[in-house]
Amino acid sequence: MSEHLSTTTDVLIVGAGPTGLTLACALARSGIDFKIIDQAAGPHPGSRGKSIQPRTLEVLDDLGVIDAILEHGEPARPVLFTDMQGHEIQRTGAPGASTPATPYPSSVVTPEWRVEEALRSRLEALGGSVIFNVELSELTQLETHVTATTSTGETITARWLVGCDGGHSTVRKQSGITFLGETLEEVRMIVADVQATGLDRETWRIWEGEHGFVALCPLASTEDFSLQILLGAGANPELSLENMQAAVTQQSRRSDIILNKITWSSLWRANVRMVESYRSGRVFVAGDAAHIHSPAGGQGMNTGIQDAQNLAWKLAAVIKGASLALLNTYQEERLPVAAGVLALSSKLMEKTLASHGSAMFGRDWKTNQLGLGYRDSSLSASPDNKHDDRGIQAGDRAPDATGLIVEGKKSRLFDLLRGEHFTILCFGKPGMSMDNLPVYPWLQLRTVQLGSEVVDGSGHLANAYGLPDGAVALIRPDGYIGLVARSDCQAALVDYLAQLAGREA
Ligand SMILES: Cc1cc2nc3c(=O)[nH]c(=O)nc-3n(C[C@H](O)[C@H](O)[C@H](O)COP(=O)(O)OP(=O)(O)OC[C@H]3O[C@@H](n4cnc5c(N)ncnc54)[C@H](O)[C@@H]3O)c2cc1C
Repeated sequence: MSEHLSTTTDVLIVGAGPTGLTLACALARSGIDFKIIDQAAGPHPGSRGKSIQPRTLEVLDDLGVIDAILEHGEPARPVLFTDMQGHEIQRTGAPGASTPATPYPSSVVTPEWRVEEALRSRLEALGGSVIFNVELSELTQLETHVTATTSTGETITARWLVGCDGGHSTVRKQSGITFLGETLEEVRMIVADVQATGLDRETWRIWEGEHGFVALCPLASTEDFSLQILLGAGANPELSLENMQAAVTQQSRRSDIILNKITWSSLWRANVRMVESYRSGRVFVAGDAAHIHSPAGGQGMNTGIQDAQNLAWKLAAVIKGASLALLNTYQEERLPVAAGVLALSSKLMEKTLASHGSAMFGRDWKTNQLGLGYRDSSLSASPDNKHDDRGIQAGDRAPDATGLIVEGKKSRLFDLLRGEHFTILCFGKPGMSMDNLPVYPWLQLRTVQLGSEVVDGSGHLANAYGLPDGAVALIRPDGYIGLVARSDCQAALVDYLAQLAGREA
């Protein structure tokens, strides 16, 4: 029996990819007892998901890993597409400019293993660590807990279990959660991290082939390029250096590009599937275990990280005493997002296939995930604004605001939101007393009274939120607005928190 594993825990996380690690960091920050296991012998080596979208950068900022990500990442490089006739189309890689409300306007390119590295290091700083070499082989659900049996012969008893164990998820299968969708056997791609000479590291190159394309993208903070070879019917899928070299030479029509070494490789097949349900009793699934789709648009890892962020605060609150019903909102909020991501990435893949790669990096693609939100969620309350669509709404992403002065020092709203607490933003003159809000053991509340302790020096907060004096916005721990109240704010807050607690106000 492994000496690392105790037999009971509040949460067992199965899988230490970006999804499981995000969940682990968030639970560790909330002081929740959990274990995170992974069947692999150690960290995953491949670049796989290399585009981190702006909304995910905000999540990583909240978790305290943004500096590590930005240190190793860089903005997307300009893309140079060469068609079969040798004509070149250049697309700029210039990043957008940040605004007071949006600190990260563009995606950052970095290998997925760098994201995992940053999250693992944060987890260790928070006192946790991944237990490698332990595979979940079986799970049994009882009314009060889940029992997991591992490859080491151990039994782990957990109140909750989260399957972050990727597309082939054992957790999903053992829980009987249906994975709806299709596998398109004929759409295949060689993906690899390779070292190469004859190419500059300033440009993301794509060459059109007769049936597909070849792409080589420099991977920031490594000596590798990410290679993608979309295979036409009958093309050789072998993951050898010779086969990859032949495809690159033939499709680029250049003999000076020499591949020297494969650092990691995989054969990708188009699978477009998502779960019918994100939960079965005490078991949840997140990330690729819940949805898989084409890499077009760079959404997969990002969606998994945001699944984990959505679930983490709810699990932590329930373990500390909030209403069990809160956990139903995980599926309510994330299932529509997964469906949207599947539709978007499938559309982008179709365009990519039809254009032999030239449409691969359309700058008009709506992929930044900043617009995702939960307006229709049962957790989104606008008691006195049911028919007014103007301005910020409950369920929207809480925008940042720079230019704040907090106790005489420069700050931004995201600095005040960072952490596991709820934040009450009170606009204008204090129109209400915050003294009579209920106290719950699972609830950490931070009240930000604008105009007194926090000064909106540049007016960016007022612009971003557009709420009148006396209004309040309650921001959830995951950075979405739970409640907007313009009048009777105290009563609205008491009602809202009582609903989370599962009590009468
Ligand atoms: C070519 C390619 C390009 C991509 N590009 C992008 C992109 O640009 N942007 C983007 O967002 N996404 C992209 N993706 C998708 C992204 O790689 C995945 O969505 C992401 O890895 C999912 O993370 P995860 O943590 O959910 O699962 P995984 O990373 O698959 O992690 C699952 C973990 O669970 C472990 N595990 C599995 N079964 C068990 C078990 N029974 N017991 C214990 N442990 C287990 C595995 O060892 C693994 O470590 C791309 C994917 C590919 C293939």
